[in-house]
Amino acid sequence: MMQSLEFLRAWRERARSWEGQLPEPERLPPAAEAEAALNRGEPLINLVEPPIDPDRFAAMLTELAALYAEGRDEARPLAEGLAAASPAQRRELAEALLSGGDAAAWADRLGVEEDMLLALGGLALQPFMARFARALRSIAPLRGWRRIQCPVCGAAPDLCRIDPDNIRHLHCPQCDTQWEHHRLTCAVCGTDDVRQVSILTLAELEPWRVEVCDRCGGYIKTLDQRHGGHLAMPQIDLYLEDARTLQLDLLAEQEGYRRGGRAQ
Ligand SMILES: [Zn+2]
Ligand SMILES: [Zn+2]
Repeated sequence: MMQSLEFLRAWRERARSWEGQLPEPERLPPAAEAEAALNRGEPLINLVEPPIDPDRFAAMLTELAALYAEGRDEARPLAEGLAAASPAQRRELAEALLSGGDAAAWADRLGVEEDMLLALGGLALQPFMARFARALRSIAPLRGWRRIQCPVCGAAPDLCRIDPDNIRHLHCPQCDTQWEHHRLTCAVCGTDDVRQVSILTLAELEPWRVEVCDRCGGYIKTLDQRHGGHLAMPQIDLYLEDARTLQLDLLAEQEGYRRGGRAQ
C-alpha cells in the first residue's frame, strides 16, 4: 500500500489526538507481576490484553479510510462503503479485523484490496496500542530489558536510534515503545558477532543509515543522534522519519537485504 508522507502526517496527527482521548486501561497488572514478567523475558502483553472498543476502532478506521481516499481512487470504495455502513456492520468489520477474522471476505464485499484494508486496520489500531503501552510503561520500568522484541507487545522493532549519550534504542511500530539495546548487535536476529554487521549510507540522508546483517540477511534503519541537529530532538517522529528515508530501504534491498530478515 502506497503511503505518502502527506497521508502519514495526517494519520500521525490524528493518531496522537485519538490516543489522548482513550481512557486509561481498567485492568493493569500489579507492578511486581509486571516486573517479574520482564525479568523472565516475557512481554507485558502476556499478562493483560489491550482493551480495544470495536466501535471506537471502527470510527478510527472510517476516518482513516476517508483520509486515505483523498486523491486515491482505488481507496474510494472503502471510504464510501464504511461511511454508508450501519454501526452494526462497522462493528462487525472491526471485530473481524481485531480478532484475525476473514479480512479477505470483507475486502471483497467492500471492493478493495485486502492488503489495503489490513494496512489501514493496523494504522487504526496503533493509537490503542500506544495508549496501552503508555499505561504499562508507567507501572513497569523497562530498564533491564535487552531483547530484540518489544517489551510491551512483543513485536519486532522497525527502527533504531542512537541517542546523544551513545545509547541505542529500538522502536516498536505497533505500540510506539522504545527500549534500550546493546550497541553492536544485529537488531533483527540478535547476533553479537560484529563481523556480520555492516553499515550502508546515503550522503543526503545522513545521519540516518542502514545496519545490515549477513547472518540473518536482515536490515534496520538507524538514526545517529550523536551529532546534534533537529534530528537529535527526543520527540522526533520516527513514523514520519521512516517514510522520509525510503531511499535507504531501496538501497538495502538492492544489496539483497530484507527488512525483518530472511523469509522463514
Ligand atoms: Zn510494542
Ligand atoms: Zn542479523
